[in-house]
Amino acid sequence: MVEEVEVKRWHGAADSRVFGWQRMPVKEALRLQDDTFRCPECLGRVRLRAAAPEKELAERGEHFSKNPGCSLGDCFAGEKRTHPKPLN
Ligand SMILES: [Zn+2]
Repeated sequence: MVEEVEVKRWHGAADSRVFGWQRMPVKEALRLQDDTFRCPECLGRVRLRAAAPEKELAERGEHFSKNPGCSLGDCFAGEKRTHPKPLN
C-alpha cells in the first residue's frame, strides 16, 4: 500500500531551499492544494484517497495506472520496475 507519496515543492530550511520531490505521509499530502503526487518507489503518478474508517482503510495513494513492478501497488508481480510513465 502506498502510505507515503512525493510532491514537487519548495522545501528545506530558509537558507537552503530546494525545489524538488519531497516525501511525506499521505495524511499530510491530503492537506496540500497540489494535485500531482507520485509513488516514492516506482515514481508513477498516484491519486490520494482519504481514510474510510467504516472500511478500516487508512489514507493511501492509488496508482493512476497499475504498475506490476511496484511492490506498494496491489498487483505486484514480484520484480521491481520503474513505472512506464514516471513523473520526473
Ligand atoms: Zn508505485
